[in-house]
Amino acid sequence: MMEPDVIEGYAKAGAVLSDLLLKHSRGISQGTSILDVCERIEHEILEAGCKPAFPVNFSVNSVAAHYTAKPGDGLRVEGLALVKLDVGVHYDGYIADAAVSVCVDGYGLELKEACESALEKALSRVREGTRVREISSVIDEEIRRLGAKPISNLTGHMIGRYKLHAGVSIPNVKSWSPLYRLKTGDVLAIEPFATFPDAAGVVVEQPPAQIFSLARRRKPRGRVEAAILSYASELKGLPFCRRWVKGRLGAMYAAELDRLARIGVLRAYPPLLEASGAPVAQAEATVVVDGDGAHVVAAPFRW
Ligand code: MN
Ligand code: MN
Repeated sequence: MMEPDVIEGYAKAGAVLSDLLLKHSRGISQGTSILDVCERIEHEILEAGCKPAFPVNFSVNSVAAHYTAKPGDGLRVEGLALVKLDVGVHYDGYIADAAVSVCVDGYGLELKEACESALEKALSRVREGTRVREISSVIDEEIRRLGAKPISNLTGHMIGRYKLHAGVSIPNVKSWSPLYRLKTGDVLAIEPFATFPDAAGVVVEQPPAQIFSLARRRKPRGRVEAAILSYASELKGLPFCRRWVKGRLGAMYAAELDRLARIGVLRAYPPLLEASGAPVAQAEATVVVDGDGAHVVAAPFRW
């Protein structure tokens, strides 16, 4: 059995996240400011007594993941837009990570439905003893059954305390998925991504990055680097963005992030673009394995 305060930490983060995801996904339509949504959600996470586990990701169409508003970002939702709103919340280091797709004017609805159906089927398999490969299989088959294609190089992941990606990956295709068997206390983020069947079905990085995390510790060289590294350590290694650094430390500091990533002090997470330019949908939930059952702590739908 799991410790009650661990379960409670996940439950608290998960409840805040599920509410915010539902509330803010409903507000997305033509003309919505991306900066506005990111800032509001991050603010409301703090108001609820939790912290963002990473900057709010607001990725549109062929950008599958890892876009967050730049400082002063003027980008708005316009035209055909399939939005992935991906949010992370932590309470005392217990992280819930979930995402919902928003089909503005119905665009990409079949892809959203494929992801959600795959996620529901995957969640129903989560219990002690289930192999990760079985979860990948269910996702892969369900997405294809519904006439879409899974993104083969985007995966779900295990979660640890203050660790967004801990150990085992949970691929959305069965071929190379691990044989690892789930055990009590494992926390999983399961996140199917789907695109059109004739698309490449893989993502590639598209710099510049907005999101960064601490890669390795070293003695800081200079005042600017010292301030950035101290900020990154304060977040206990969790990701942050240029916007946050600008708000906290100033524009000069935000401009230093790319250089620190180039020399390997920071890790950069550039936006991930579907290689053939096709739109991508995502659905993500966080689930805690507990014996013969599972607690779904955050999901893009009622569970
Ligand atoms: Mn996520
Ligand atoms: Mn995730």
